[in-house]
Amino acid sequence: MATVVDKASGKRGGQYKSAAALRHPEKQRNSDSAILKKPEWLRVKAPGSPVYNETKRIVGYDNLVTVCEEAACPNIGTCWSKKHATMMIMGDTCTRACAFCYVKTGLPNALDVHEPNHVANAVARLELEHVVITSVDRDDLADGGAEHFARVIRAVRAKTPQTTIEVLTPDFLRKEGAAEVVIDAKPDLFNHNLETVPRLYLSIRPGARYYNSLRLLEKVKEHDPEQLTKSGLMVGLGESRDEVLQVMDDLRAAHVDFLTIGQYLQPTRKHAPIDRFVTPDEFKAYEKMAYAKGFLMLSATPLTRSSYLAGVDFAKLRAARQKKMSNTSA
Ligand code: SF4
Repeated sequence: MATVVDKASGKRGGQYKSAAALRHPEKQRNSDSAILKKPEWLRVKAPGSPVYNETKRIVGYDNLVTVCEEAACPNIGTCWSKKHATMMIMGDTCTRACAFCYVKTGLPNALDVHEPNHVANAVARLELEHVVITSVDRDDLADGGAEHFARVIRAVRAKTPQTTIEVLTPDFLRKEGAAEVVIDAKPDLFNHNLETVPRLYLSIRPGARYYNSLRLLEKVKEHDPEQLTKSGLMVGLGESRDEVLQVMDDLRAAHVDFLTIGQYLQPTRKHAPIDRFVTPDEFKAYEKMAYAKGFLMLSATPLTRSSYLAGVDFAKLRAARQKKMSNTSA
């Protein structure tokens, strides 16, 4: 029997449960952490421009899910005003329970076989030059959803061959051969976020393993040396500067081309608390260090997210690689 849930009120079958309890049942045992007031450099305008509303209408056509909404991204007003929506495939429910993430957790539904075409149609309607496709973790699927990712990439290629495609994948932990399926579908950019420094994995990303994520990025380059790769970190979770620099070295050892670094924001009182707000000057210093370590491209600002300004940054990344190749062959 289907249960109708009113998401806003959390009203369920005559009983009342908080929306947070329905969204993250496993976090309800956590003690409450006060949500810190944001500094001025993290304040954003409320969304609502006509183009924003148009974007909302288009992604709503086939009940598509976006990480912009599901992760309560602070950049949604800016991005959707440019029609930049990031598709989240394989449903709105994640099988992991990371301490930083607002995406709903629980048992997901079966895959929607029509989703690849629906995503391709939305990309065409939005007239995207560059699309970012991400997903929830699907540990329940034998291949972690790798084949579904590949189908979405192929559907977008067929519908809008001019659109460049960036994938932001899960870690495919214990799914032998899964990453290769996605790499063979030839996205233009393969992204997998490390999210935080290794010391904090147990508390922040307990279902994942730092070296598995790093190895995934390394494997992408081994399997296809031409494939551009990207990873991302959140800061403000309690990591030290030296730990961030060590992660940069690890990523360069795995030949990762592009690194994003942004401020962690606490979605609810039950999520991991913010340790501190990293200042814009500290972000600039990280950017400088990362370029010195050999990354082709860096985005490090308080509001940087993996998919923020992804199309513009992808063009810069390609240009940087071209320049490097011409310098090498000169
Ligand atoms: S930064 Fe990414 S997730 Fe956030 S609104 Fe923009 S496209 Fe969506």
